[in-house]
Amino acid sequence: MRLAILSDIHGNLDAFEAVLEDLATRRVDAVYSLGDNIGYGAQPEEVVELLVRRGIPSVLGNHELAALDPSTLDWFNPAARRSLALTLSWLRPDTRAFLAALPRFRSVHGLRLVHGFPPDSPTTYLFEIPWLDFAARFACFPERICLVGHTHLLGLYRLLEGQVREEALSEGEHALDPASRYLVNVGSVGQPRDGDPRAKYVIWDEGRGTLEVRCVSYDAPAAAARILARGLPPEHARRLCR
Ligand code: ZN
Repeated sequence: MRLAILSDIHGNLDAFEAVLEDLATRRVDAVYSLGDNIGYGAQPEEVVELLVRRGIPSVLGNHELAALDPSTLDWFNPAARRSLALTLSWLRPDTRAFLAALPRFRSVHGLRLVHGFPPDSPTTYLFEIPWLDFAARFACFPERICLVGHTHLLGLYRLLEGQVREEALSEGEHALDPASRYLVNVGSVGQPRDGDPRAKYVIWDEGRGTLEVRCVSYDAPAAAARILARGLPPEHARRLCR
């Protein structure tokens, strides 16, 4: 079984389509989204339509949480709040209802899928967890591997014999130790914050025990121009081209 895991598409249809094109060459059996399919980007409705059309299940991100409970808009910084309020106003009612009904986690083929942090938080950032608590946090989910998004950065955390080690996660294939448990931060498709404008996603090969990080070039300036043309905050356009 080969599973592709995407996160934080953030209304960036250009990046999402480029990732789906890349995926078509990678022989995967299923694709999942870790949420934040909307927000920041200019084409949220189109991104959700494509997710549904391609049968890609998602979990609830903190941006979808705002579709469920608008009072959570107060948690966002001013630019993100402005972007999300506009985004929600553009979405069709049935799209909003679809997003609001997404589950907080999924358990598939021995993987736990969560937007922020296990067991099921769409809002907790991985970097908010004190390092001393990190090993104990592995006890809060039964699966061997948990994949998260939310920070828009790549990261790999390995638990072996009660000790957590942070390991480098970069483009290419990584063999995971079958005796260890892992927390994987998969990066962002549509709004990377790692200084590399390429869209990031991962492929988990269950049979081989490998995790492949894919970095996909796409027309980021076009996606940035769409953000500006729709009157969304310019900082989210600038960030795409860095
Ligand atoms: Zn996000």
